[in-house]
Amino acid sequence: MNESHLATKTRRTYIVITLLGSMLALSVYALAQAVQETAMRFMAEDLVLYSETQQVGQLLSEQERILYEYYATTEAELYANNYMHNFHQLTDVLSQVSNDGGDSHSIGMVNAYLHSAYDTAKALDENLAADQTDWDLAREQLAEISELRRASLPLLAKIETEINASVAKGYDDIQRLLSVTVWLVIVFSVGVGGMSIYLGRHAARFILLSSENEKLALFPKRNPNPVIRLDAKGQLLYANPAAAPLLSELFEEGEPQSSSPANWLNSYLKSAKFAGDACSQHTCKIAQRYYLMQSHWISDHQTFDLHLRDITERQEAEEALAFQAYHHPVTQIANRTFLEKIINDHLQQNKRFAAVMIDVTDFKVLSENYGLADALLCVYQVAEVLQAKTNALANNLSKDIQLFHIADACFMLTVAPESLATKCIDHLAKQFAKALQTPLGDMRFHLTFGATVYPEQSSDYASLMLHSNIAVESAISSAKQVHYFSNDDGDRHQRRLMITQRLEQAIGAGALTLYFQPKQHLAQGQVKSCESLLRWFDEGEFISPAEFIPIAERSGLILPLGEWVLDQAFTQVRHWHQQGKDIQVAINISPRQFMQPDFVQGIARRLDSYGVPPSLIELELTETSVMETGTAARTVLSALRDLGVSLSIDDFGTGYSSLAYLSGFPVDKIKIDRSFVQYMDEQPEQQAIVLTICQLAKNLGLSVIAEGVETESQRELLVSFGCDYIQGYWLAKPMPANEVEQLFVD
Ligand code: C2E
Ligand code: MG
Ligand code: MG
Repeated sequence: MNESHLATKTRRTYIVITLLGSMLALSVYALAQAVQETAMRFMAEDLVLYSETQQVGQLLSEQERILYEYYATTEAELYANNYMHNFHQLTDVLSQVSNDGGDSHSIGMVNAYLHSAYDTAKALDENLAADQTDWDLAREQLAEISELRRASLPLLAKIETEINASVAKGYDDIQRLLSVTVWLVIVFSVGVGGMSIYLGRHAARFILLSSENEKLALFPKRNPNPVIRLDAKGQLLYANPAAAPLLSELFEEGEPQSSSPANWLNSYLKSAKFAGDACSQHTCKIAQRYYLMQSHWISDHQTFDLHLRDITERQEAEEALAFQAYHHPVTQIANRTFLEKIINDHLQQNKRFAAVMIDVTDFKVLSENYGLADALLCVYQVAEVLQAKTNALANNLSKDIQLFHIADACFMLTVAPESLATKCIDHLAKQFAKALQTPLGDMRFHLTFGATVYPEQSSDYASLMLHSNIAVESAISSAKQVHYFSNDDGDRHQRRLMITQRLEQAIGAGALTLYFQPKQHLAQGQVKSCESLLRWFDEGEFISPAEFIPIAERSGLILPLGEWVLDQAFTQVRHWHQQGKDIQVAINISPRQFMQPDFVQGIARRLDSYGVPPSLIELELTETSVMETGTAARTVLSALRDLGVSLSIDDFGTGYSSLAYLSGFPVDKIKIDRSFVQYMDEQPEQQAIVLTICQLAKNLGLSVIAEGVETESQRELLVSFGCDYIQGYWLAKPMPANEVEQLFVD
């Protein structure tokens, strides 16, 4: 029960008691009046009448005694004085009795008796005064007088009885009135007592409530959080001490007590009113601090209650967390999460823009040379330059150009409008034309840019990321600095995806097979070796290994694929071996396959399980396999060599290795790449290269094979250069095992 409810109840009880008390007072007053009247009547009338009646009786007795004395003494004075005096007294008293309300009939009778007695007394006086007193008559006369007195007595008694009855009735009335008064007083007292108890209990509660309210009233006062009450117009009604420093910020003009709320506060108040019973909550910044403001519209009082809580620490911590969530921890540049948000914002606004991925292409080499930590330090220098220049571009052009640091050595630039992308890319690329100062010294960085445009080429965040990445990859693979994503790139990517998916199924579905291309020993003319080449007929379509092998290499599929090829090749070698044809089969080994830790064991296991002589197995390794893994490669090659298998370097000349360097590796053969052989007969430079390779290989004790020999003139030149083997269409195209075996000659 609240304070006002209690007060109303107490007030009502007080009114009831006052009314009842007034009514009781009136009743008691009326009753007392009645008692007084009865008593007065009793005192003034009945008592006087009673005494007068008694007096009549006494005077009658006195009259009789006077007359008897007169008879005995015959003293005339007794009659003349005493009797007459007594007679007059009697008549006076009787008339008094009559006046005072005595029974008129009885009084009349007594009066008649009195006058009869007077007449008889007069006759007695005459008799006694006479000289001849007739004493017998005198006695008769006296007896008559006595008789008259006795006759009066019942009448007097009747009057007395009536008086008694009247007195008794008055007494009863008084008794009844007093009894009613007593009961009224008792009832009132009980009522007042009950109400006192009731009121007492309420009063106790009221006192408790009041003290609680008083304590509550202290609460906002001592509350360290600001508490403010405003009227319906938003004007200040109350502010606790903690709110005092904020008032000048909350109210727009003049003294806060009379001023109107600031615009922003006004809008909060409106929303609080709109929220009704629910409390509306806002975070606001007042005097450089953050507050959580709960505004509540109290419709009963038509007031707004504002409770503020200082959440500056929490807010700052949240902002720091949000910053961390949206920025790179070291460079403080917006990160990929932020990029996604910005891109989605652009998409929502249907804003045309270009997304440009920037790859620090040297990063891989840097981390190989200096370690990841130092390589990252270098990237941070690049980031600093990129950020500074991007900001300058955005400011100078007044356009929406932003930089994001999305991976270790990868950045993204968003440029709106997209037409400015080329200008931005050129400007940024120029910054890296000269060396940068880094913790590792002055360094030159090579950045690759891959751009795509919304909405023409990419429609959402995922496609923007993918397409810019494809563009960067395209730029890198074609050794360009900038590449703009095109539909061809998209188609190529789709095809790569398709090949990746289908190739996995193809391995188990028997869609793959091995073809063999024979090799000829030039000096002897023998065809006693061949190269196994993978063939994939996907639903009738031939897909070249030149296309799917690099894809398999990237996706990791090359590993199961390589295992399958090895098994197929070993099976074929065993088959021919069992037929007595010792044909050496060269198997292409991808760099990734070569780098597997159990690669040598795999070969050893197969040599053992297939039971084929190791000399019938040749492994074709790429230049990069051997070069990139360095010392590790040397160990693997030695182990393979120890197994007795031949080793050749495929596509020689396309990499950057020198023959002299390669000779340090335990390999047997060099395969000159088709690109040198192809135009050898037309281009003297190519011819010179092939000749040099042949001569150097000879000097280093390595065999040489030329691949892609298509013409007789090429063959003749190679013969003249001292090349050991040839392989190419001139001899035969790759073909199934049962066909190629027809070409083998002893
Ligand atoms: P590669 O090992 O250098 O194979 C030689 C490629 O040149 C073969 O292409 C072959 O058909 C082609 N060729 C041979 N002679 C001539 C010629 O006279 N003229 C022309 N124009 N081409 C000729 P293919 O079969 O398309 O293979 C392409 C590449 O795919 C191979 O180059 C090899 O690197 C890879 N590859 C093929 N099979 C396998 C395999 O089983 N495992 C691995 N890891 N890679 C393989
Ligand atoms: Mg090969
Ligand atoms: Mg080759």
